[in-house]
Amino acid sequence: MIDLRSDTVTKPTKEMLDFMMRAEVGDDVFGDDPTVNELERYGAALFGKEAGLYCSSGTQTNQIAINVHCRPGDEIICHEESHIYRYEGGGIMRNSGASVRLLRGNGGRISPNEIEFNINPDDQHYPVTRMVSIEDTSNRGGGVVYDFSDIQKISQICKQKNLSFHLDGARVFNALEVTKIDPIVYGKEFDSISVCLSKSLGAPVGSLLLGTSDFIKKARRVRKVFGGGMRQAGIIAAGGLYALQNNIIRLKEDHRRAKELEKIMATADWVESVIPVETNIVVGNLKFGYNEIEVVEKLKQVGILCVGFGNGRIRMVTHLNISDSDVEFVKLNFPTHL
Ligand SMILES: *Cc1c(COP(=O)(O)O)cnc(C)c1O
Repeated sequence: MIDLRSDTVTKPTKEMLDFMMRAEVGDDVFGDDPTVNELERYGAALFGKEAGLYCSSGTQTNQIAINVHCRPGDEIICHEESHIYRYEGGGIMRNSGASVRLLRGNGGRISPNEIEFNINPDDQHYPVTRMVSIEDTSNRGGGVVYDFSDIQKISQICKQKNLSFHLDGARVFNALEVTKIDPIVYGKEFDSISVCLSKSLGAPVGSLLLGTSDFIKKARRVRKVFGGGMRQAGIIAAGGLYALQNNIIRLKEDHRRAKELEKIMATADWVESVIPVETNIVVGNLKFGYNEIEVVEKLKQVGILCVGFGNGRIRMVTHLNISDSDVEFVKLNFPTHL
């Protein structure tokens, strides 16, 4: 089976596992785990941030950031298909009592103009606009990357209007691989950054939340309240540290292979179009009359695993455990006709 369902399905390599087994550990709630401390320091330094916080998942880092930035009733501006809204179980409301202003955007991205129009005036009728959150790359957009100039403009607007600017950077290193922007220059634009270690970077568990020392101090308290304080977490944090130090460099291979899959998918007579691939996500629009559940099942029968992506679309994602020969297998077995 060639597993293209998500870049979360990766298994740690032998080198990563060896590194994890050798990790020095301690009680992280006491601040005593040297490996967790090193991962937090290392991740923060990569983006020029003062501090970091190691968490169990990207949902947790996003939800903690929202909780620190917002008070109940405040409003968050984000894309209508953003992970924080669509895939975190209603956590914005449930955990933080915050409201959302959902923007239609373009290909998963929201524009500076659109954001500016949706900031509420200082009027008692409206929720207080408090925060803007963007995804780079955008998952539902098909792994597309923001123009850095747009990020700078959004950041400018946030500063002027006193809004917090959060990055859901689940796949931020895929974005930076394409734009080649220095992560420190990039990181400066955001008040908080969430980075997944367990997606394309290939670590088994965890995400990092990055920001100022003051922000991370508050975030650490919220993590505890959310039940996310871990003890000898260095064993899993080591996987994250290994991933940051060794697996960023290879993301371009995932992108090259995703472009191959784009071409393969486009040959099928049941595919209407494929969203132009920018990173490691390949999204195909099915022709009218094809059911995504049935298509996913048919692909499974020939050894190719992918997921239905809603609205008559299927998604494939390349990652650490997909090789050139796996792509070759897909090419040879992909049904051009169903
Ligand atoms: C995967 C993902 C997350 C975090 O997901 P977890 O499974 O909780 O780690 C957040 N945002 C985006 C865009 C994602 O793709």
